[in-house]
Amino acid sequence: MPGYVIANWKMYKTKKEALEFAEGLKDGLSQGGVVVGVSPAFPYLETLSNAFRGVDRVCVFAQNVAFAEAGAFTGEVSASMIEDAGAKGVIIGHSERRHVFKEDPSWMVKKIQLALDRELVVVYCVGETLEERDLGVGPEVVSRQLAEGLGGLEDESKASIRSKETLVIAYEPVWAIGTGRNMEPIEAKEAASLIKKNVSELLEGYVPPVLYGGSVNPRNIQGFAGHFEIDGVLVGGASLDLGRFLPLIKAFERA
Ligand code: PEP
Repeated sequence: MPGYVIANWKMYKTKKEALEFAEGLKDGLSQGGVVVGVSPAFPYLETLSNAFRGVDRVCVFAQNVAFAEAGAFTGEVSASMIEDAGAKGVIIGHSERRHVFKEDPSWMVKKIQLALDRELVVVYCVGETLEERDLGVGPEVVSRQLAEGLGGLEDESKASIRSKETLVIAYEPVWAIGTGRNMEPIEAKEAASLIKKNVSELLEGYVPPVLYGGSVNPRNIQGFAGHFEIDGVLVGGASLDLGRFLPLIKAFERA
């Protein structure tokens, strides 16, 4: 199972900046087995997919997907549209979607189901808030989010996840995202082990790659890459700049 280092650009980068980054990334990549993901804003999905055509190890991900395939949903983008734009996968359940845009937990399974129906790779994000952490209920929150997203999937989709390895979990403690305050790698490693166990129970033996996300940067990356339970990282701030993003990829190639 490959490792993943995925850039989440959020609502940053113009088309010109995105294309410059793509060229720099292609030039800066060495040989290695880590899958590199880039998640631009929706308008640039196709541009970036074209820019990375023929570069096997770089994939383009959307940052979100609608909970319906079509309909009167102003501002939404469906899984088919994301597939048409040439993206390989989609991030679902990012904490900014859950907490800023108030996405309902009941939407998660619908989104995941639709993405899998289009054969997109799903990066499903889970993680507790600071309040939940302080209450000591982090593991329960994460288990609940996993059950909400995966428990109700169709049997056929569960089988397809197992055979095609199309599900990745991103563990992102909400309090660590964009704050400059990362979780201790040993704690993230423990959470990753628990997530693997949990998902394997929900999906009859499928053990997913688990990524850590939350204020990762070139200074703290070795701590995460040093634990084999952590299969990669989902990166916001440090993914906007090639000088900071490339060392994160290299760290997981060495690990
Ligand atoms: C993210 O947005 O998924 C993230 C992890 O952001 P940052 O790396 O900036 O904490």
